Amino acid sequence: MKRIIVKHTEKEGSLMSQSYYRPTFIQVDLQAIKSNIKHLKEKLQKHTSIMAIVKANAYGHGAIEVANAALQAGATLLAVASPEESVQLRDAGVTADILVLGASPISFLPIASERNITLTAYSYEWLFATRHFTKSFKTHIKIDSGMGRIGFVQQEELQKALVFVRDRKWINVTGVFTHFSTADEEDATHFKKQIAAFEQMLDLFEQRPAIVHTSNSAATLRNPSQDWDAVRFGISMYGIAPSPWIDENLPFPLERALSLHTEVVHVKRVKKGTSIGYGASYTASSDEWIATLPIGYADGLLRKLHNQSVLIKGKRMPIVGKICMDQCMIRLDEQVDIGEKVVLLGKQMNEEIRIEEWANALQTIPYEICCTFSNRLPRLYSE
Ligand SMILES: *Cc1c(COP(=O)(O)O)cnc(C)c1O
Repeated sequence: MKRIIVKHTEKEGSLMSQSYYRPTFIQVDLQAIKSNIKHLKEKLQKHTSIMAIVKANAYGHGAIEVANAALQAGATLLAVASPEESVQLRDAGVTADILVLGASPISFLPIASERNITLTAYSYEWLFATRHFTKSFKTHIKIDSGMGRIGFVQQEELQKALVFVRDRKWINVTGVFTHFSTADEEDATHFKKQIAAFEQMLDLFEQRPAIVHTSNSAATLRNPSQDWDAVRFGISMYGIAPSPWIDENLPFPLERALSLHTEVVHVKRVKKGTSIGYGASYTASSDEWIATLPIGYADGLLRKLHNQSVLIKGKRMPIVGKICMDQCMIRLDEQVDIGEKVVLLGKQMNEEIRIEEWANALQTIPYEICCTFSNRLPRLYSE
């Protein structure tokens, strides 16, 4: 695997090599992302495009690198959560259409117009607030079909909005979309209600916008061949299933892009009764080999993960004591060398630690873990 170390500078599109000294990093396998996109493409209808969701720094994987890889693999559209995230991609030279999924302030409209960034029109009030801006801009209308977050709920409000945009030729409604709240669950009752509610709202359009899109990863994977003009491919583009139920019913195997690595920096033999770490909460129950790793909660190895293990030589070694801000300690079953490779998430030989294990330990979902890895962790890319 070729390791490329790149860091994006402030300057437009320029890449600068940067050396890292601490051996702790996230490895992102861009080939896995490309492969997930290619496999999905084969399952979709010919006319369905893939919108790669790269919000929150591409779920922690690195927005610019992931956006470029996704576009190379056949995605044609991008989406982010905030204006800042869209500008970051444009500054890096990304030219594909970008949709901002969240609410954008009207003050962003001139920049969106100038830089071809598509904004979400999520209420009549928002559209009405654009009335003094008469340069052309692109927008996708968001329907709230049962998520309860942003979007048009009432038919009358949508009708009013459609009249408003009909009289303003510079408002370019290029899409309409909705978002599902339960597509990852086996019980499809609410999911089907949302589809019906969305279709009713679609009927109000005299002319259907070019890009109708509804599906997140879960909805896409449960029925890839039945989709509108585009699908919004987020978590599963990174190789992670949206839920255990989807994981058991995948139309094709997903390949994980992210792994987390470090190295042993210190090894010692401790006597029975020696305590380890803050609060002296762990005490060696016999003579033991203890190693120190240069990773801690400031990197995203949260303190509640103190019962987890790491991989060394393909075997699980438990974390002992409390996780510190920048370091943690593990118990070894034998002495290892300084510099011994450690995998915290991902595969090593025949063993694997999946992000779902961390999610269970932290009583959360893999999504949250991906995007809480801190900026201190360099992202290294292989392709
Ligand atoms: C984040 C997001 C997605 C992607 O969802 P995944 O479950 O990660 O595929 C799609 N649509 C909207 C509106 C989103 O906010």
